[in-house]
Amino acid sequence: MGILRSNVPSGRTASPATDDVSGDRATTCGGCSATYPDAAWASLSFIRQIEAAEIARSVLDWPAGVTIEVRRCANCGTSLARKRCTTASWFG
Ligand SMILES: [Zn+2]
Repeated sequence: MGILRSNVPSGRTASPATDDVSGDRATTCGGCSATYPDAAWASLSFIRQIEAAEIARSVLDWPAGVTIEVRRCANCGTSLARKRCTTASWFG
């Protein structure tokens, strides 16, 4: 199992270093190989969100607070799934 809170900064300084982190999390379409980084992903058509409790019924080791977001590829229309961690809520 991985460590979820690996490198979370304690304070919110306007550091450009956060760009490196988000650049890593691109989603690639299985249908047309289009790549969607964070910003582009948010602009795709939203289909549904699968809650952690719902996934945990089928996946034994699913971490709490991690949901799956399903969006439609703007290029070919394939449904794309992407994990989304919602445990950051304790930041307020
Ligand atoms: Zn596609």
